[in-house]
Amino acid sequence: NFVPPVRSHGGSTSNMIGSRISGKSDDALEDSTRKCLEMLCGPDGELPEKLRNLEPRLIEHISNEIMDKDPNVRWNDIAGLEHAKKCVVEMVIWPLLRPDIFRGCRSPGRGLLLFGPPGTGKTMIGKAIAGEAKATFFYISASSLTSKWIGEGEKLVRALFGVASCRQPAVIFVDEIDSLLSQRKSEGEHESSRRLKTQFLIEMEGFDSGNEQILLIGATNRPQELDEAARRRLTKRLYIPLPSAARAWIIRNLLEKDGLFKLSEEDTVAICRLTEGYSGSDMKNLVKDASMGPLREALRQGIEITKLRKEDMRPVTLQDFENALQEVRPSVSSNELNTYEDWNRQFGSLA
Ligand code: ADP
Repeated sequence: NFVPPVRSHGGSTSNMIGSRISGKSDDALEDSTRKCLEMLCGPDGELPEKLRNLEPRLIEHISNEIMDKDPNVRWNDIAGLEHAKKCVVEMVIWPLLRPDIFRGCRSPGRGLLLFGPPGTGKTMIGKAIAGEAKATFFYISASSLTSKWIGEGEKLVRALFGVASCRQPAVIFVDEIDSLLSQRKSEGEHESSRRLKTQFLIEMEGFDSGNEQILLIGATNRPQELDEAARRRLTKRLYIPLPSAARAWIIRNLLEKDGLFKLSEEDTVAICRLTEGYSGSDMKNLVKDASMGPLREALRQGIEITKLRKEDMRPVTLQDFENALQEVRPSVSSNELNTYEDWNRQFGSLA
């Protein structure tokens, strides 16, 4: 497969990107892949060392599907979680904004674990970090690595860390990290998942010891499944609990966005009392269902949907929420909560 060092047309160095990785000629690359590789080239038009032995299609997948340049979530979108926000600002945002101050003794950990029940804002925090620190955000679900990318997970992990190091400062958010870094299942563990886990830990070790501005955030609903090696690398472990006072904020915020918030203070307090144990995403589902109340009522009265005028619809009421509560049940049991609290006492960052 002879690859001419200089192409007869064009002539820019980036035309040869394909030949520098995996020995492929440019013509063998799709346009989109070539474009994506060109964007990762340094000012000298060269592809960074780390990316040269990686498969172009994996680099493209990371750049297009996993990298999110503007996650569009800000601290103000997240209700409550003041403790977590404070820790994250100190550990992540400041060091990413002022790497010159945060070195030596002040150098921050590179691994953060967010654990707690599902739907409590862990992913939102990850996105907000990237937004506030002006970092590139990479989102990957660990279970997709083990299920969708069977046999290729290792390569994808290398590509992920490779692209992140070219896009610093970067935040790599690994959802369901327990499925990747779970305790060794001595007998049953599949060889490929063991290799995947080893590769992941090697990559983490790599940027932990270097000067790279990459932060790894792992999120899990099953922290007790993580093994000791994973815990050691995820130095800060923050419990993200169910919302308490933040439930009122979520109701108000979601309804206000659509101009539908007309509830009295008393009714809001009553709804909060009725939604003890609901997660943030349960609350979101509840608000959605309750906001259908006025519409359902109008239709019951025989008004045709095509003739319905928005301004004639009544506001969302406490009764709508009471009806919605029959439909939308809490998704987390009190037993599960005890498990999180125990794990937090043992391994969590409490201060
Ligand atoms: P997790 O990653 O913890 O499973 P997410 O961050 O994906 O949960 O939250 C799911 C959805 O629930 C969010 O998109 C948001 O609408 C809502 N939500 C959860 N927690 C909060 C919160 N603290 N503040 C505002 N919205 C929240």
